Amino acid sequence: MADHLGPILPGAYLGILGGGQLGRMFTQAAQSMGYRVCVLDPNAESPAGSIAEKHIRADYTDLSALKEMAAICSSVSTEFENIPAQALDELEALGVYVAPRSSCVSLTQNRITEKNFLASWKEETGISPADHFVIEHKTDIFHVPKGLFPGILKIARMGYDGKGQVTVRTPEDLERAWDDFNQVPCVLEKLMDLDFEVSALVARGHDDEVVAYPVAQNIHRNGILHKSVVPAPSLNPEQENKIVEAAKSLIRHIDYVGILCVEFFVLKSGKIIANEIAPRPHNSGHYTLNACVTSQFEQQVRAMARLPLGDTRLLTPVSMLNILGDIWFLNNAVLGVMHEPPWDRVLSHAGAKLHLYGKFTALPGRKMGHVNCLGETLELAQKNSTAVAIDLGVEP
Ligand code: ADP
Ligand code: MG
Repeated sequence: MADHLGPILPGAYLGILGGGQLGRMFTQAAQSMGYRVCVLDPNAESPAGSIAEKHIRADYTDLSALKEMAAICSSVSTEFENIPAQALDELEALGVYVAPRSSCVSLTQNRITEKNFLASWKEETGISPADHFVIEHKTDIFHVPKGLFPGILKIARMGYDGKGQVTVRTPEDLERAWDDFNQVPCVLEKLMDLDFEVSALVARGHDDEVVAYPVAQNIHRNGILHKSVVPAPSLNPEQENKIVEAAKSLIRHIDYVGILCVEFFVLKSGKIIANEIAPRPHNSGHYTLNACVTSQFEQQVRAMARLPLGDTRLLTPVSMLNILGDIWFLNNAVLGVMHEPPWDRVLSHAGAKLHLYGKFTALPGRKMGHVNCLGETLELAQKNSTAVAIDLGVEP
């Protein structure tokens, strides 16, 4: 449903819930357009809080903090999906324009509601989620269809970057794994025979305008995104079109305002599976910072400020390489002995654009930054990211 509210113009304060790297890159985009930014994040040292005009250091459910935010911000968005829905509702009740709304965010907070939604959406798009079964009670384990083994048991809430999931091969495995997860609600998903993974990034404005970015092909390592390549080398135009149209129909269907990412699996059989929805900018969309007319963060700003959406056109092939904290510890057996990676070498490659998130402490598996490696052709972009990876000591 389109609303009839006017735009929120530069000079105003925009609010962001969460102060991580996504919030930081949002803040940079907003500030470069002349907005001021207020971050709500409980951590004293947050990547976004350290650069925003205002950092309210409080819990997301702290009513006085939400009131303080509402008093200065015209509009608020979120950088991570586990924001309590009540915080978004409270802000809306206080008269703030909240984009995306809490119902859209909470849909993705629980894998059970998310999978059910994806299953219901199949009618419209012809794309279904992986076969799955909900485990909430001990007895559910005995009713799991045999065909779901081997499967992946995923906790319903708070899982990310492959955390909170484990492969199970038998019902006995499943019982043990569920006990290890303290019997919290879970989804058991059939282990699919993946050919490759892709993600669709779409945005919708308050006036129902919908735009889509080129689909990214994603390579994960240990459950964490390692690389995103655009245009997706393994995807054919028909598949790309199907995926983009599906994501566009989804964002309209849930009446979502802002930027949203949908992850898909393409199976060896050619079948496309919808995996999960992120109600925010996504790691696989970081390539847009250097390779598109409008970055995903600028798009988030435009949507929440009720401005026209920006051009999503790809200007150059790109391979985005994630930088994890592990490389600070290379050649050092002892944790705690860190060395700064050779950024000068990274920057010696033409077309290598370095983004670091200003995190003070490197930890294995922690996302510290990324490098967008551009090239005149996809082959050159990939060659570039291989060279950068080698310089950083990571496997390309
Ligand atoms: P997260 O929230 O941690 O990103 P995902 O559901 O996206 O959780 O799972 C992380 C990764 O694990 C996926 O990107 C994919 O590589 C692999 N994976 C997840 N589910 C399946 C599945 N059903 N079959 C095969 N691989 C899977
Ligand atoms: Mg995922």
